[in-house]
Amino acid sequence: MKKLSKIIKHAAKDEDNRLLMASSPIFIMHLLALGALFTGFSWAAVIALLITYVVRVFALTAGFHRYFSHRSFKTSRVFQFIMAWVGTSAAQLGPMWWAANHRHHHQHSDKPEDIHSPVIKDAFWAHIGWILCRAYGTIQHDRIKDLSKYPELRFIDRFHILPVASLIGVLYVIGAGLNVYYPGLGTSGMQMVMWGFFLSTILVYHVTFCVNSVTHIIGNKRFDNDDESRNSFWIALLTFGEGWHNNHHRWPLSARQGMYWWEFDLSYLLLRGLEKLGLVWDLKVYPEAIYAEAEQRSAEGGPVE
Ligand SMILES: [Zn+2]
Ligand SMILES: [Zn+2]
Repeated sequence: MKKLSKIIKHAAKDEDNRLLMASSPIFIMHLLALGALFTGFSWAAVIALLITYVVRVFALTAGFHRYFSHRSFKTSRVFQFIMAWVGTSAAQLGPMWWAANHRHHHQHSDKPEDIHSPVIKDAFWAHIGWILCRAYGTIQHDRIKDLSKYPELRFIDRFHILPVASLIGVLYVIGAGLNVYYPGLGTSGMQMVMWGFFLSTILVYHVTFCVNSVTHIIGNKRFDNDDESRNSFWIALLTFGEGWHNNHHRWPLSARQGMYWWEFDLSYLLLRGLEKLGLVWDLKVYPEAIYAEAEQRSAEGGPVE
């Protein structure tokens, strides 16, 4: 009873700005996604959802996370721009904002300064609360000087609505075109936008956010890091490899987050494919010493829960 009154008192003070959350663009995105109920279902729309999910999860995990935040591989300025543009179409603001907050997370993981630690605050806060309240909407420029020297990245961060609006526009044109030329598919411009943008974006939000919430709560700790990061197969499956978060916190510079072939890491496999095409190069991986440390931990009794 005492605990309940403490929670009510805390909520009444609204210390986490939770009352402001209802005005957040991300909250409104969730409401708009309900529009899919009114535009109906078609397999063409489901295929659009799958494509926009896969492409944007890759742009966020390989692009925003492993490239812009950790510089774990190299690429051309053109491909850097493409990753920035496609990643920003996931409506999680631009690469400079994203990377600055993420670098801050690595510096202060699960310490009082950590912006989205479920250990310091709670799982809801770590998952979505910190973004909803918009308290961290400004870019920490001192953390991303290597990125802000590119005017095209500053442009994308400033006008982050443009990649979002272009994706919506392209989906609408495709849907309207299919409606005219292939009416048997049963799709339309609005249906394509609802499934290919809104529903897909909500899915991309929650799998990305799970890396901040779930993989700091559930899973095993291969390494005895100075934080609560954990490895989770299921989150790795949904996020194309980001669930190997305990490995990642041990050695953030690696473009590969799974350590062994059975630690599924689709983003790394796709990066290796792009490397063969000459689009990316100098992919960093875990050094031998990290593998030796993992084996030693395993010999001592295996990863702990
Ligand atoms: Zn983390
Ligand atoms: Zn990271």
